[in-house]
Amino acid sequence: MSDTDTRDPTSLRTPIVAVLGHVDHGKTSLLDKIRGSAVIEGEAGAITQHIGATAVPLDIISTIAGDLVDPDDFDLPGLLFIDTPGHHSFTTLRSRGGALADIAILVVDVNDGFQPQTLEALDILRRSETPFIVAANKIDTVPGWNANEDSPINDTYEAQSDRVRERLDENLYEIIGNLSDEGFSADLYWRVQNFQRNVGVVPVSAMTGEGVPDLLTVMMGLSQRYMKEEMEIDVAGPGVGTVLEVKEEKGFGTTVDTVLYDGTIRSDDQLVVGGQNEPIVTDVRALLQPRPLAEIRTESRFEKVDEVSAASGIKVAAPELADAMAGAPVRVVRDRDLDEVIAEVQAELADIAVDTAEEG
Ligand code: GDP
Repeated sequence: MSDTDTRDPTSLRTPIVAVLGHVDHGKTSLLDKIRGSAVIEGEAGAITQHIGATAVPLDIISTIAGDLVDPDDFDLPGLLFIDTPGHHSFTTLRSRGGALADIAILVVDVNDGFQPQTLEALDILRRSETPFIVAANKIDTVPGWNANEDSPINDTYEAQSDRVRERLDENLYEIIGNLSDEGFSADLYWRVQNFQRNVGVVPVSAMTGEGVPDLLTVMMGLSQRYMKEEMEIDVAGPGVGTVLEVKEEKGFGTTVDTVLYDGTIRSDDQLVVGGQNEPIVTDVRALLQPRPLAEIRTESRFEKVDEVSAASGIKVAAPELADAMAGAPVRVVRDRDLDEVIAEVQAELADIAVDTAEEG
């Protein structure tokens, strides 16, 4: 996504996806499964490992999804999954006062049903007005389940006995009922006509990969249909992002892992980064991406790049970052007035402070 930029000045960026849900319901496993499927399906290099995020390009999604996806129906470039699941990371990650994630997956264990953190996650999604779908996970643990690795849900559903199907249906309808009690009109995803009004429930197994083709298809469809306008960005414009994590890296000092959601960052850019006390003004020393696994031997885990465009995850090395905070804004100054950019970052920091105080 870096290299020379031959795209239109305005371009559609990748929607940013977050995964939420109760502990042990399978958030990490689901992310691992999606990453794993993408690596298997992808030609070498087609899937890009970012810092703190995984980009799954449209062509990989359409290979995984098979008949479910016709790539000609889409012009969004794919999906960018934030690698850190959970609602703590979701609430600290904002963009311009809203949620950093454009779209979310709420993972619910299909046997365990709604649990306290499921309700908390729903509350967060409701308040941040983030569109989401529900992954009813662990369908392979329904007693008597006959697993069909990586198959779309319809195929594996037909391969189950009547009793197994009934049991799964009962559990799924319980989840749909719980969603309705919380004020969300929901249904099995293939019955949903309008994903803006109704929450789609997708039965999946993060273990066997069943339903994962459907999950990716629904996420892609939902983004394409309802979020396209929000994804239009000025690719070459000054980058805007959010700090995921502040980390010491040997040889680079303090770095900020950043999700860029607008524009580009270049290796010679000046930045304003939100700090504990005040905005930090600094110059990029290096932009770092994970080196492909095959190339890691004694060399650094990272490789330097000259430029990255949204949406992507990038590690930024720069002086003076010790006071940077997770969740804080990152803005490229480039040819704008420095004081103006500082004021923007200050305003965003004030927003974060108010929200944090409200959450107690
Ligand atoms: P998290 O806390 O939500 O991130 O949950 P994890 O991904 O760590 O999963 C918790 C446990 O459930 C682990 O032991 C997983 O192996 C298991 N698990 C997750 N998804 C599935 C699934 O679809 N099927 C089965 N059988 N086990 C699962």
